[in-house]
Amino acid sequence: MITRFAPSTTGEAHPGTLLSALLVWLDARKRGGSVVLRLEDLDTTRTKVQWAAQLQEACAWLGVDWDGVAIQSDRIGAHEAALDTLERQGRLYPCRCSRAERMRGRRAPDGGWAYDNICRARQLPAGGWRDTPDAIRARLPDDRVELVDDGGLELSQTPARDMGDPVVRRRDGVIAYQLAVVVDDAAAGITDVVRGRDIAPSTATQVALQRLLGLPTPRYRHHLLLLEPAGNAKLAKLHGSLPFTQLRARHTAPELCGLLAHAAGLLDRPLACAPADLVAGFDWSRVRTRDRVARWDPERGLVFDEE
Ligand SMILES: [Zn+2]
Repeated sequence: MITRFAPSTTGEAHPGTLLSALLVWLDARKRGGSVVLRLEDLDTTRTKVQWAAQLQEACAWLGVDWDGVAIQSDRIGAHEAALDTLERQGRLYPCRCSRAERMRGRRAPDGGWAYDNICRARQLPAGGWRDTPDAIRARLPDDRVELVDDGGLELSQTPARDMGDPVVRRRDGVIAYQLAVVVDDAAAGITDVVRGRDIAPSTATQVALQRLLGLPTPRYRHHLLLLEPAGNAKLAKLHGSLPFTQLRARHTAPELCGLLAHAAGLLDRPLACAPADLVAGFDWSRVRTRDRVARWDPERGLVFDEE
């Protein structure tokens, strides 16, 4: 069993990052597998070297270690080779459609807007995918992908229709997440992907890309998210608030580990502990499936409310 923790390094680590790291690590250690850290830094418009460094520091501080560390931007040659493969299959086409145009269309399972594949008939220039300034999409087969993750989450889709053909290289030249994740998981021999539930609706698209590229499909599991208020009485995935520097200034690592383990359902009370103390009792059946709301209390620091 080989799994990975693959955060994007586009901001400070926060409680959601650390909870995900903890769950992935516990799963690997409990099962005697290996776990690698993959720093996803392809989005050069948002990623910063300092966030990658802080992320490693935050995980080490918490007490989570890795059997290897990979940097996604080291793998661009492999991503480009995958684009070459898809181009040889006649799967790639340029697309200039804007998000504003998609917003007149259908909703996708991830809450965004589906793409109606309207540029499928467009051709790449004679020089191939490297020669177009447009975004590049991959024409997926119109087949249904049947998929249930290890937590019983139903993920079946017809991704070409439900989500639309994915962008595999963005207009700004950045290799798209959907392609990079598939190529890098296969190259690292990942057998089990454990990640937040916000990515679950992309799984069928990733499986379709694996099939086109002749890559194996790992097992998947999607865990609860930590949420924060986002205005209009709505909640959103925790993102910018509660940065690691703030957490570390208020909590010791064992305190924070206990708070996260309690929020996830692994402890009855938020007792200070190290990740290693949780390995023996770890079981996915004890990890709650419902999301939790994280907030900052001036007296108590990080607290969790029911969703
Ligand atoms: Zn288009």
